[in-house]
Amino acid sequence: MKITEVETIHLRLPEIERECNGTQDALLVKIGTDAGLVGIGEVDSSPHVIQAIFDAPYSHTLACGLRHVLLGEDPLDVERLWEKMYRSTLYYGRRGAVIHALSGADIALWDLLGKATGMPVCKLLGGAYHRRMPAYSSDLMPFEPARAAGRAAQLRDAGFTHLKFGWGGLGQSERLDAELTAAIRSALGDRPELILDIGHCWDAATAEARARRLEEYRLLWIEEPLPPDDLDGYGRLTDAVTTRIAAGEQSSTCWDFADLMDRGRVDVVQVDVSRAGGFTEARRIAQMARQRNKPCVPHAYSTGVLLAASLHWAASIPNGWLVEYTVEESPLATGLHGTGLLREPLRAVDGWLTVPEAPGLGIELDEEQVAKYRVV
Ligand code: MG
Repeated sequence: MKITEVETIHLRLPEIERECNGTQDALLVKIGTDAGLVGIGEVDSSPHVIQAIFDAPYSHTLACGLRHVLLGEDPLDVERLWEKMYRSTLYYGRRGAVIHALSGADIALWDLLGKATGMPVCKLLGGAYHRRMPAYSSDLMPFEPARAAGRAAQLRDAGFTHLKFGWGGLGQSERLDAELTAAIRSALGDRPELILDIGHCWDAATAEARARRLEEYRLLWIEEPLPPDDLDGYGRLTDAVTTRIAAGEQSSTCWDFADLMDRGRVDVVQVDVSRAGGFTEARRIAQMARQRNKPCVPHAYSTGVLLAASLHWAASIPNGWLVEYTVEESPLATGLHGTGLLREPLRAVDGWLTVPEAPGLGIELDEEQVAKYRVV
């Protein structure tokens, strides 16, 4: 079998709000073969930049676009192709956008491998530890405590037993952080778990004091309290507080994650399969986390394609814990009422997601929806 086509599909809502919301655009990758099989992947990054990384022509051995690297290759040589993509982009890659682009291609190749062998990706990755995984609802934090409390109650009533609120109103002031958290906790009562995503707003000293102040609300973890490059701050913070500290969605490749785990000493390792290096690298990162006895949780704040990939990965590793489930009401995401661009949406039922059993990612795109939001 040979790769005959590498297509990138840029989706975008007609109106884009200026907020930290990753469900307003998306980039899908399709890899086609001479056998008629097509693998699907996704990249959660800047779609224009990612398309350029696929489209770039050959400059020299270490500076080449990904389409050129992949055309004519055997798509079943997934790990060898990961290395080829990594080496062929070394001059302008190694981290960031190039690894994001490579991730989308890698996901599509694993989907193809599954379709070619009749097996779901989680089986190809070594077998599923779980047939279903607990999902946590992931939403932006409102700016008013009453609105935050109302939304929390709504999500609990929808069946979620783990809720996360991030960015938005968090990190603006000590008083608002405490008021928002108190309002949500009092609306929820004791049982549902609560997670806060601070969106890089604090320094280590602030984070240490704020984590202590919020201890009474029993947070499951505090996510990205510090900027991603403040690894020494993360190390200081994780040593100082008892609340778990989570990070990883800005990291790509094993080398980034080694720093995050060993220098930053984070407690929860968050891997975005569409940014960290696809299944090939996410599997290695999970193994590194396992060696350090740390749980892994996928970052997934985009379409149903990334959700499916995250679910296969989390189910297939011994240290998979929860799966992020965005409840953002966007036509590109699954949310509470959408489709996530899939013909059969992967919906959280009573807070649980069932791992697809059909070959590959086990999903089919709703091509009408894709065509509706496609801009390039
Ligand atoms: Mg986050």
